[in-house]
Amino acid sequence: MPLLFTGKSVHSSSGSHSYAMASQTKAYKPIELKLVIDKISNQVLYAESNKDFVDVLLSFLTLPMGTIIGLADKRSGIGSMDELYKSVEVLDDEKCFWTKAGKTMLLNPRSAYGFQYHNLVVKIDGMDYSKLYTCRRDPCWTSNSGFFSLVKNSICVCRQAMEYEVHLQNTGGNVGSSSMAFINKVDRYIIRDDLEILPSRIENGLPWLEEK
Ligand SMILES: [Zn+2]
Repeated sequence: MPLLFTGKSVHSSSGSHSYAMASQTKAYKPIELKLVIDKISNQVLYAESNKDFVDVLLSFLTLPMGTIIGLADKRSGIGSMDELYKSVEVLDDEKCFWTKAGKTMLLNPRSAYGFQYHNLVVKIDGMDYSKLYTCRRDPCWTSNSGFFSLVKNSICVCRQAMEYEVHLQNTGGNVGSSSMAFINKVDRYIIRDDLEILPSRIENGLPWLEEK
């Protein structure tokens, strides 16, 4: 059994700097991480954190393929997906696609769970899910139902491009709150460097310690 040191809670700037940099929200909320360190090898054995951090990690699983390739700067290494993405980049958006929106959507697809990202302390894809587009013609956006698109330059029912930006006033919950996202009930989790996650209980942490 290695000699252990349980570090005091630290902010994400040490353990997850890139996540903190991705957070552009006004209501910034630090992520707390408690690190369990093997003092002999100076290795982090695992981290412990609350549901806010785990929700951010789980949101990775909801990212569409095109967004993953873009975030990885076309070096994701997922089969031939990087080349497929680069091919779309060079295709002429007016000659090859029904609308400009087709190319935009393929290169920057929104997560189907994106509206729930509002409750995350860090939105990894950097997209603004309150943003919608309209043709701004009457009655398309003045009627009760209204016509809006998630993708700029989509074609409206009136055949005009939906190029004008509007913002939803309320997408559910407060930014940075601990309300609905993915995780419920269990307050604390332990996270290994390979991103294996378990509820924070002694019996869950011990096998990881004994591996070292
Ligand atoms: Zn319209």
